[in-house]
Amino acid sequence: MAERIGFIGLGIMGRGMARNLLNAGFPLTVWNRTAARAEELVAAGAALAASPAALAGQSEIIISCVSDTPDVEAVLLGEQGAIHGAQAGALVIDMSTISPQATRTIGAKLAERGVAMLDAPVSGGSEGAAKGTLSIMVGGEAANVERARPAFEAMGKTITHVGALGDGQTVKLANQILVVGNTMAMAEALLFAQASGVDLQHTYDALKNGAAGSWMFTNRAPQILQRDWRPGFTIDLQEKDLRLALTAAEQVGVPLLGTSLIANLYRTLQQRGLGAEGNHALVKALEALSGFEVGA
Ligand code: NAP
Repeated sequence: MAERIGFIGLGIMGRGMARNLLNAGFPLTVWNRTAARAEELVAAGAALAASPAALAGQSEIIISCVSDTPDVEAVLLGEQGAIHGAQAGALVIDMSTISPQATRTIGAKLAERGVAMLDAPVSGGSEGAAKGTLSIMVGGEAANVERARPAFEAMGKTITHVGALGDGQTVKLANQILVVGNTMAMAEALLFAQASGVDLQHTYDALKNGAAGSWMFTNRAPQILQRDWRPGFTIDLQEKDLRLALTAAEQVGVPLLGTSLIANLYRTLQQRGLGAEGNHALVKALEALSGFEVGA
């Protein structure tokens, strides 16, 4: 019998992930701060809870996928948080990208109530969430990872147990260092091709399957060529992840030279009011510096 799952946070990622759990046959209860965003899943067969605490009372596994560290603290430990409804023996899985250190603190508070925790941040974008092909990097005890595996398999394709609680978040931050490096390289390459007067569609076709190809280039370069800034992943969330990565890097004493430069560029875009655009809009920061515009 599939365990009863409660899903907190039906944003760009959460709604696809929850839908895949439902499709895989898990009895599902959902909660979202903005209630209207839960309607689609309720229509598809999910139960609706009035608060994270109420959701936890009906769930054996409680999954959160919200924005930032304080948001996870609010939905798990806050006044109406899941901790107040969860039964001893329940398992909390946080699939947001947040601070590794805060994750360990949250885990310790849940453990005092007999509730176990895994951190399981994801990569693969909104496309991966919708298709159930996410890469999931999991931190926590092996027995809990095995307990969660059927749920992970409904949401993702590559499930890697990377270490203890908090280590999933550390690996995710390493992933974000790769993401912004790829985004910056894509933006510079397209701007260079544009300024040099070569056809951008031909450039894309020639490069995407070569050694310098990347998920970012394949999926987001076409959006840049169309000047389509709708987010798979927003600039605000990207800046949040870079802040988390730079803080964690400072704690272990490693310089992240390229990453801090890119973080500064993302901040300039936020200052210009572009925080809700997709992270591929990084190219706009370079356009402002160079005077060239891709796809113009
Ligand atoms: P999103 O579309 O902005 O959704 C954020 C979700 O968090 C919404 O359901 C929002 O509720 C909820 N939320 C935020 N603050 C809250 C609070 N204080 N209390 C209760 N609910 C709160 O973001 P997303 O793209 O789905 O990202 C979710 C997480 O996944 C983030 O940690 C992100 O870094 C990570 N992630 C995203 C991607 C991606 O490509 N998008 C990829 C990998 C990982 P409302 O609907 O009420 O605003």
